[in-house]
Amino acid sequence: MATLTQITVAHGDGIGPEIMAATLHILKEAGARIAIEEIEIGEKVYLRGNSAGIEPTSWESLRRTKVFLKAPITTPQGGGFKSLNVTTRKMLGLYANVRPCVAYHPYVDTLHPGMDVVIVRENEEDLYAGIEYRPTANVTQSIKLISRPGCERIVRYAFEYARRNSRKKVTCFTKDNIMKISDGLFHKVFDEIAAGYPDIEKEHWIVDIGAAKMADTPEAFDVIVMPNLYGDILSDVAAQIAGSVGLAGSANIGAKYAMFEAIHGSAPRRAGQNLANPSGLLLGSVMMLVHIGQTDVAERVHNAWLRTMEDGIHTYDIYADGISKEKVGTKEFAQAVAARVGQMPEKLKPASYSAAPKQTPTGAAPGAGSAERKQLVGTDLFLDWNAGSAADLGPAVEKLAGDGLGLTMIDNRGVKVYPGGFADTLTSEFWRCRFLAASATQTQVIRLLERAAAAGFDVVKTENLYTYDGKPGYSAGQGE
Ligand code: NAD
Repeated sequence: MATLTQITVAHGDGIGPEIMAATLHILKEAGARIAIEEIEIGEKVYLRGNSAGIEPTSWESLRRTKVFLKAPITTPQGGGFKSLNVTTRKMLGLYANVRPCVAYHPYVDTLHPGMDVVIVRENEEDLYAGIEYRPTANVTQSIKLISRPGCERIVRYAFEYARRNSRKKVTCFTKDNIMKISDGLFHKVFDEIAAGYPDIEKEHWIVDIGAAKMADTPEAFDVIVMPNLYGDILSDVAAQIAGSVGLAGSANIGAKYAMFEAIHGSAPRRAGQNLANPSGLLLGSVMMLVHIGQTDVAERVHNAWLRTMEDGIHTYDIYADGISKEKVGTKEFAQAVAARVGQMPEKLKPASYSAAPKQTPTGAAPGAGSAERKQLVGTDLFLDWNAGSAADLGPAVEKLAGDGLGLTMIDNRGVKVYPGGFADTLTSEFWRCRFLAASATQTQVIRLLERAAAAGFDVVKTENLYTYDGKPGYSAGQGE
């Protein structure tokens, strides 16, 4: 008997149990070599007073199987409940979110018949690192954290995915014309890693115009890799314009663990009526089969599903007069797919998953940054101060200079306001005062802080300024 791969399954809430039953029925009929451990997550667990929505014993199952097939859950209304998706992503280190967005023209209505885009979204860093501050009463900050190992891992994943799936091109979206350091690093790493894949075409777009182009002409793209926030937004746009939010599955991949699901939620109003379309979860499970190396089963399931689409056997959400042949419920749809196991689509492109070996997780290579010479050259003092204008603050802050560290500028909300500056610039009580020297020491910075405290300034934070091989590791103030 073939060895079975253990997987953890959660049936979820709302339509979850129905679409999971349908999915597991099809996997069984297609001969998936899996053994299932069931866990309970979601609404019932939350309402038992577990704010995470998942029990400790469930983590044990996930640690054991390392593969999670998850139905959507309902997060109860009201505060105090943590997002299970965010918790799972962080606990299991699921750094890559992969979402294929495909049009199934002419069987599912879409404005973009040729669309076949895979969004690869970095899943852990960027503004989602969750590092936020309220340094003064009226100013908030969210740190956009982009690391070289984080970029390397996600970009390499995108190229490996492209290669395994016979994709021709990988596009990178960033906003590095504005965020030159953070998004600049993502773009730079993209260029470095792309050089190792001469067989794959590569390009970079600024995210705004790239997003516009994707929404208008998605046929122009193949695989798109991007930092977390852009990926969050654009993967929803891509799924929507493919015409198939109810049809898209998604994979969350980490170095050790992986989670597979539909992109939609638990649709509580449709629950228990044998109405829901199980296709999103089923296509998520196809990605799971590829992940666990059962590409033969993945192909059988995917092709049977494509054939069912072609045969016009549709659930209510995609049923259209003149295109569809039969409106069916969740169970009947699953039976129709199961009955087609072994058949191929005739018009739609058949699914083919090369029997390429499972991807070996790529650990972070030693960062190029580690070889550079790092030099402290000063610090930004951030003050909470509302006793006047920049013209009043400037001379008072200049008096703090000494010990080699001199004031080079003050800015407010990123705009230089001293020396010079415009009286019209809207200012908050949060001022950044930049002190620089040719080279500085921690002690000089500490003494500067002592002088600021002695002068009665409320220093709410500091950010040290470094150069790397003489190049500034900090941005200039606007107008500096
Ligand atoms: P939803 O995706 O559940 O539903 C949006 C719309 O799409 C509804 O009209 C619904 O009937 C329809 N729909 C969704 N999936 C369908 C399917 N498979 N077949 C047919 N129709 C389908 O989004 P929502 O209503 O905003 O959220 C409902 C609940 O789901 C909320 O509690 C939310 O927190 C949760 N949610 C969970 C996940 C997850 O577990 N991954 C993701 C998103 C939302």
